[in-house]
Amino acid sequence: MKILVPVKRVVDYNVKVRVKPDGSAVDIANVKMSMNPFDEIAVEEAVRLREAGVATEVIAVSCGVTQCQETLRTAMAIGADRAILVESTEELQPLAVAKILKALVDKEQPQLIILGKQAIDDDSNQTGQMLAALAGLPQATFASKVTVADGKVTVSREVDGGSETLSLTLPAVITTDLRLNEPRYVTLPNIMKAKKKPMETLKPADLGVDVTPRLKTLKVAEPPQRSAGVKVPDVKTLVEKLKTEAKVL
Ligand code: AMP
Repeated sequence: MKILVPVKRVVDYNVKVRVKPDGSAVDIANVKMSMNPFDEIAVEEAVRLREAGVATEVIAVSCGVTQCQETLRTAMAIGADRAILVESTEELQPLAVAKILKALVDKEQPQLIILGKQAIDDDSNQTGQMLAALAGLPQATFASKVTVADGKVTVSREVDGGSETLSLTLPAVITTDLRLNEPRYVTLPNIMKAKKKPMETLKPADLGVDVTPRLKTLKVAEPPQRSAGVKVPDVKTLVEKLKTEAKVL
């Protein structure tokens, strides 16, 4: 069984992003880029399933600029067997990515597609759900445990107030939550091995997908500065302030 893992190149989670002076977007010039953390968890889970003999091949796919090759090499250093770059310089919105992934699902016929629950740059949390809808596949989002057996996948998912367990018929779409696993440390020998693994490059047009953006960003702004707090000398003053000044927001 094949597993397809979409991985997105995003601004590294340690970077404090800045808005461009013209307010059109976040400035990503000379900023460290990395694999979306939830996608690392997705690659790790897929590789563990292959190591357990459940899956036979793990294919990483990234949609975006040429530099996404680095993200795909990281996925292969974690253990993905091969990679597909769907290259485009256009801004790729979740619907466009979902359409590209649907075309790849038709082409590669994976039994599982494991995505991150959200990309930490735009926090859309849409691509997996849109892919499942477009491909007519069952979906389990926010997975914290995945077990595959007898043509079915059982997924524990994190929901408000607890955990829910779903059983899906394969093929199926899963999105990962933080507690699913802890991705392995990528070793130098595996980084070297990853350089030799195959990477195919396609254009959205090769898959018959129109990626024209449907949403227009009107303005990007920094969040308002929080005003400074005050120190109170004693509990009596605190209680008084809570009574007279504190507001329910
Ligand atoms: P989002 O809906 O943008 O929050 O992204 C959810 C998940 O979809 C990510 O964690 C990735 O697994 C996948 N994804 C989104 N955009 C891309 C992309 N450009 N290339 C590959 N995978 C992507």
